Amino acid sequence: MRTYTGTCHCGKVAFEVDTVLDGVGVCNCSICRRRNAVMHRVAAENFRLVRGAGDLVLYQFNTGTAKHYFCGTCGVYPFHRPRLAPEAYTVNVFCLEGVGDEEIAALSVNRFDGRSFSSVE
Ligand SMILES: [Zn+2]
Repeated sequence: MRTYTGTCHCGKVAFEVDTVLDGVGVCNCSICRRRNAVMHRVAAENFRLVRGAGDLVLYQFNTGTAKHYFCGTCGVYPFHRPRLAPEAYTVNVFCLEGVGDEEIAALSVNRFDGRSFSSVE
């Protein structure tokens, strides 16, 4: 386990996750595809919002189960609470400090076919 700090672009939102970054996920559902995110899921007890609770904007659609957050200032997607695991946090790997492009490229990629769920989010 290692602790990673993640931030949005402007820095108003910051979070920490404790995890073993052994893989990433990408998804082809309507929102993941648009935000082009490379993601990593952690359990709620391994996620801490450091700052920015008042700067996060919540976006929900469809069943309203998932909670998609973005920074209200810079628009970056830092993390969300996924529909299929609403108790967890899924973070944007590219927001994590100290994780290089080569490291990300070397990780195994789980391609989730979210588009095939009738009502994805
Ligand atoms: Zn921001």
